Amino acid sequence: MVVEITKQKHDLQNGNGKTIPQRDVQSLKEEIRKIVKEKNAVVLTHIYQRLEVQDIADHIGDSLALSRAAARTNADIIVFCGVHFMAETAKLLNPVKTVLLPDLQSGCPMADMISVDDLRAFKAEHPGAPVVCYVNSSAGVKAESDVCCTSTNAVQVVSSFKEKEVLFVPDKGLGVWVQERLPDKKLHIYDGFCPTHYQITPKDVFVMREKYPEAVVVAHPECDPEVWRLADFVGSTSQIYKFVSNHSKEQFIILSEQGLVARMQRDMSHKTIVTTFPLPLCPNMKYHKLESVLNSLINNVNEIEIRADVFQKAAQTITKMFEITESDPAKNTNLWEGPRKQAVEA
Ligand code: SF4
Repeated sequence: MVVEITKQKHDLQNGNGKTIPQRDVQSLKEEIRKIVKEKNAVVLTHIYQRLEVQDIADHIGDSLALSRAAARTNADIIVFCGVHFMAETAKLLNPVKTVLLPDLQSGCPMADMISVDDLRAFKAEHPGAPVVCYVNSSAGVKAESDVCCTSTNAVQVVSSFKEKEVLFVPDKGLGVWVQERLPDKKLHIYDGFCPTHYQITPKDVFVMREKYPEAVVVAHPECDPEVWRLADFVGSTSQIYKFVSNHSKEQFIILSEQGLVARMQRDMSHKTIVTTFPLPLCPNMKYHKLESVLNSLINNVNEIEIRADVFQKAAQTITKMFEITESDPAKNTNLWEGPRKQAVEA
């Protein structure tokens, strides 16, 4: 079964199907922006968020882009519209700033698949091997790791080690992707995965290819390797956006989360951009609503706190990632600027 683009657009605009009257949405957006300015706050929004939550952002991007935006902000308060580990990353980069997560239910099931004890046991099985943790992990797991990575820079980070054997946690989809790019390395890959990206099956891809035979198939490496091996291009969220934006073809099948698809449908309305069905929708990314953002801002609720005994070590894994990948941690690439600034695509 496939979904026509018009139906997809309708579903995506309405989030979980609950439509907020237009005037309320507009007044909420205006009030949020007014308070953001008054409180010298900044709103960082992941591109998997609802479109209306993207509309009130100062910066929209993927994990890496938002980490960079967090590293360079002069705001006193960071309102993070993403999942918990992303807000933790912002806090690790801004120890003295207030970081708010509008809805605390917004966790990441993949990050929850590995605990500190799980990682210690994994390390004990492979003594001496350095640990690379995907940014989709808790501060505690980051503190037990040597360096952090994102899907944009995972290959670069893993290849920076002189050791042949490297532990990669927690995402097996991305881990296999990195292993296949670095055949001289021996990766020991943890058995975590993204339930949203793993929902996409090879059969779903075949169905869509039949429906759109001219389409270019684009996948995120968090998908099952059996799925991303069917794609014409595999890349991180920001790389997918750039690839589709710059490509001369008009039809694309996107094997990734629907928020990215919705954003590209809106930004590139002259192209046909579809995904599989059922929609690969991460429910954890959709908890934040305009009302919860406003509440968080007004009342300073849901502040992110990180245990003192893990803070410094966890922050070091992120700093080390930036040291490996770029000379300037605050360098702004892969970032979609929000409505307060003109679009910048590096
Ligand atoms: S899309 Fe997957 S990896 Fe991203 S927050 Fe949702 S469950 Fe976690």
